Formats: sequence, structure tokens, C-alpha cells
Amino acid sequence: MKARAFSYVCPATVAEALDAFAAAGSEASFIAGGQSLVPALALRLQAPECLVDIGRIAELRGISQDGEWLRLGALTRHVEVHDHPLIAACAPLLALAAPFVAHPAIRNRGTLGGSIALADPASEFPAMMLAVAAEMEIAGPAGRRRVPATDFFQDLYQTAIEPGELLVAIHIPVARPGHRCAFDEFARRRGDYAIVGCGVMLALPADVVNEARIAFLSVGSTPLRARAAEAALNGRPLDAAAIRDAQAALASDLDPADDEQVPAAMRLHLARVLLGRLLGKIAAAA
Ligand SMILES: Cc1cc2nc3c(=O)[nH]c(=O)nc-3n(C[C@H](O)[C@H](O)[C@H](O)COP(=O)(O)OP(=O)(O)OC[C@H]3O[C@@H](n4cnc5c(N)ncnc54)[C@H](O)[C@@H]3O)c2cc1C
Repeated sequence: MKARAFSYVCPATVAEALDAFAAAGSEASFIAGGQSLVPALALRLQAPECLVDIGRIAELRGISQDGEWLRLGALTRHVEVHDHPLIAACAPLLALAAPFVAHPAIRNRGTLGGSIALADPASEFPAMMLAVAAEMEIAGPAGRRRVPATDFFQDLYQTAIEPGELLVAIHIPVARPGHRCAFDEFARRRGDYAIVGCGVMLALPADVVNEARIAFLSVGSTPLRARAAEAALNGRPLDAAAIRDAQAALASDLDPADDEQVPAAMRLHLARVLLGRLLGKIAAAA
């Protein structure tokens, strides 16, 4: 199958991109790395009349630190998330998750902004936005705003981005010396979408957890934060009892559905195994 015929514009600024989208009405689509959109066009799952290519907008690029915040332009490629020294230093959880995203060819083209805007619940980076307490900067005809990750992912493939709005950048609080993180996932083959994945970010300045953030992918219609498991850890040493309690608390955090390949009970079991491994790894390293 082939994509339907479409017109194509390649604006140089955010303002031009918003204008181009508005001029095309609801029949437009932004395109970034094209790693999700181009297959969807080829299969005619999407058939916009106009593609607004944001790839040449300089403001959407760049990785920089401004005091307590790291700014990642929406066009930051997956491979840069993996390789960039500022990300390794200031948001190491993202660097740990990056090698699990697809394959090298896709990581060379796919963008962080595209992955987050698409909000596939099985994708690594959207879930990690919850774990690192990211804020998404969105530009639209009415101006700009920043939306915390907890309010950003609203339903299956639905985010706080309204039609015609553009994700400009992702802002992440810089990790402090006492922060510890870990990521892992279960997939049938490396590079496949995960059956379940988890990222953990703990503030562990001494022996006691004083802020836990735990996020899962592939367990529901959106990326999910495991707040009961977090509560089971906060204020306690990261020992075997706390880890067991956090694993048990996942029963109230996660309610995965059965699907053709993985029964819900198995997915919940795997989530518990994964969380236990990640917390054990952090405890052993601390
Ligand atoms: C074979 C294969 C395997 C894959 N495996 C994985 C995997 O294991 N894990 C994973 O996370 N991903 C996986 N992906 C998806 C890949 O990571 C994509 O790159 C990513 O999901 C989208 O990024 P993109 O820049 O290519 O976006 P595009 O494909 O260009 O766009 C995706 C959507 O986001 C919108 N969009 C893009 N940028 C913006 C923006 N700045 N503001 C507003 N809207 C925007 C577009 O309009 C479109 O609707 C896989 C893809 C393929 C083809």
C-alpha cells in the first residue's frame, strides 16, 4: 500500500510551523523523525492532506542545562539521548532506557519529541517522563505553556497537546548526587516493544528513601506511575522488607488487561519481578 498524495511544507520557525498547520486545518500532521508516522501513512492508518516537516526548526534542537533544569529540544534523537554526556550526568535514567528503544537505524532518526507526542503506552521514553518528573513545553496559537508529565498523558495515544500545537522541548529537573536510578524491561526479543518495562528513580541521600518515583510501560492505556509502590518505599531503608512491600503494592497500582499474547496475571507478575530486580540492584549499588 502507498500513502495518499499530500502537500509538504518545511517551515524554519515554530511560528511558521503553527501557521502552516492552521492554514491546512484539521487535515495536517507534523512530521519529525517519521519513524512512526511514515509507516502509518504507508498503511493508510493516517492520511493527512499536508505534512508540516518540523525537522529544520533550530529552536527544536539542542540539549542544554539551565541551573536546576535540563532542556531537551523536541528534535533530540533517540541516539543522542543515549550518547550525550549532559543526559548521562543530569538525567541518567533516560540514557539507561535509550538502548531498549527499537533498533539503531530507528534510534538514529526517531526523536524524543515524536515519541512523547505519540504517547504509545508501550514506549520507553513517555513512561520515563513520569519517573524523571519532566515538564513538556507546548507551543500553540494561544501561546506557550508547560505541562507536567503527570497531566500530559491522558488516554491511549492522547496527550495534553491539542490539534495544531507543537511540542517544543522537554524540561527535566537535574538529578542530584543522592539520586539513584535503574531501568529494565521484558521483551520477547531485544528491540521489540516490551511486554512490561519499568524505570525507577529514588532520592536516597543517606540510607533512607525520601522520594521514590516508579513508572511502568506496557501495563495500561497510558504510561503509569506506581504511587502505592512509591509510598511503600518512602521514609524507609531500601531493604528486603521494603522491596517486598513495594512489589505487593503493585496490585493496587496496576490493572493490566488480558491480551492475546500475555494474560493480565502474568503481566502483573512480571512487573513485580522487574521492580524487585531494579530495587535490588539500586540497594546493592548504594
Ligand atoms: C520497527 C519499529 C520499532 C520500534 N520500536 C520501538 C520501541 O521499542 N520503543 C519505542 O519507544 N518506540 C519504538 N518505535 C517508534 C520510534 O521510537 C519512533 O521514532 C517514535 O515513536 C516517534 O518519533 P519520530 O520522531 O519518528 O516521530 P514521527 O513518526 O515523525 O511522528 C510521530 C507522531 O508524533 C507527532 N509529532 C512528532 N513530533 C512532534 C512534535 N514536536 N510536536 C507535536 N507532535 C509531534 C507526529 O505528528 C506524529 O503523529 C519503533 C518504530 C519502528 C518503525
